[in-house]
Amino acid sequence: MSHPLRAAAFTSDAERTTWHDETLWFVRQKRDKAVYGIPEFQQLRQLASDIKEHTLSRLDEYLEQFEQNARANGVQVHWAADAEEHNRIVLDLIRKAGATSLVKSKSMLTEECHLNPYLVNNGIAVVDTDLGERIVQLREEAPSHLVLPAIHLKKEDVGETFHQHLGTPKGEKDPQALTEAARLHLREKFLIGEVAITGVNFAVAETGAVVVCTNEGNADLGVNLARVHIACMGLEKLIPRTADLGVFTRLLARSATGQPVTTYTSHFARPAAGREMHIVIVDNGRTRQLGRPDFRASLKCIRCGACMNTCPVYRRSGGHSYDFTVPGPIGAILSPNIDMRQHSSLPFASTLCGSCTDVCPVKIDIHAQLYKWRQIIAQEGELPAAKKLGMKLLSSVLARPGIYRLGGKIAREGLRFLPHGLTHAQALNPWAKARELPEAPKQSFRDWYAQQAVKQ
Ligand code: SF4
Repeated sequence: MSHPLRAAAFTSDAERTTWHDETLWFVRQKRDKAVYGIPEFQQLRQLASDIKEHTLSRLDEYLEQFEQNARANGVQVHWAADAEEHNRIVLDLIRKAGATSLVKSKSMLTEECHLNPYLVNNGIAVVDTDLGERIVQLREEAPSHLVLPAIHLKKEDVGETFHQHLGTPKGEKDPQALTEAARLHLREKFLIGEVAITGVNFAVAETGAVVVCTNEGNADLGVNLARVHIACMGLEKLIPRTADLGVFTRLLARSATGQPVTTYTSHFARPAAGREMHIVIVDNGRTRQLGRPDFRASLKCIRCGACMNTCPVYRRSGGHSYDFTVPGPIGAILSPNIDMRQHSSLPFASTLCGSCTDVCPVKIDIHAQLYKWRQIIAQEGELPAAKKLGMKLLSSVLARPGIYRLGGKIAREGLRFLPHGLTHAQALNPWAKARELPEAPKQSFRDWYAQQAVKQ
């Protein structure tokens, strides 16, 4: 199903759409306040972009350096070419540890690899411990946002979910009470978790350590209580030095939620005595993206979600309408790299206003890449038939000034005389559902211009 069709399901609830739009815009405004609070923000962005550019240009060297240092720290490093291999490695490690359950802190990579269903099908109980992730897990849904996985849900929805799964009183919607219930529920899970899986925000080549940022401290609780820690990372998470880390942590939280820094920035360098630590480094299409000059900059992404919060299409169509692990503008660039045919509608889910590029803390040229994907998708013949026909018609009109002028005249006259009920009939013109058409001008710009020229 294409993005517009999935978005139609979301926008059919107008009240929820408006609320979703306003909530994310609020986060965007918080980001703006935090950003304007530090005068050197633009320099930080440039620096972060340059560090990532440099790292990507020597990724092979930094990966080897990282592996070497991690192994020297007593960490076991595994390489996975794709999602399938990643899942197999993780399952093997869990089985070797003799475990049947695990706790997992937020990791978009494991979502990308569909690790949860794979493990559950193999008899392993998986508990997501990030509050938002746990909510969507209980509802058997995918996260709808990189940083705010349950942002599509209202507190009433969460209350009903917790009533069904955690036994909270029916109708309870007080966020404090619901958080308290989740906290008690998750504490039990932490205590019995034998294995802890975490994502990785940054992997430092010169030390072999990984850094995980959370606001709830759930990664720390999981790792410190479990016998085995498995950190799963995409190979683009590398940064060269610990000294570079501050650049990214200052940008990440401000861009994501408007906080000066994430509540917990945890460094995991080696296993505690008597325990195991594993790092699984995953490719899953990243090398292919690295080899595409027009799109390699998308690998700079630090998954802050700012491009989603600002995108007018994301805000009004919801994360699930993208049907890809990473939604929003950055997801629309990453997804065709994985499967262009399946995700061919996503680069069109944008107004190309460029707001995503403006807020991106690592200066990815997101809207330019969206435009590039559109061209490739059209060249590869992956446009839907209606769009192809529409484009053909439009190009033949635009190539013939006489027909273009005539079309403009007919539209101007038509709009003046056609009854409002017809121009705004929702079956014919869904655009006019919540908008008025502008009043048709009496003459075209071309006629007006010609008139002025004559006067002079
Ligand atoms: S593309 Fe930029 S703004 Fe979007 S999630 Fe990645 S780092 Fe953040």
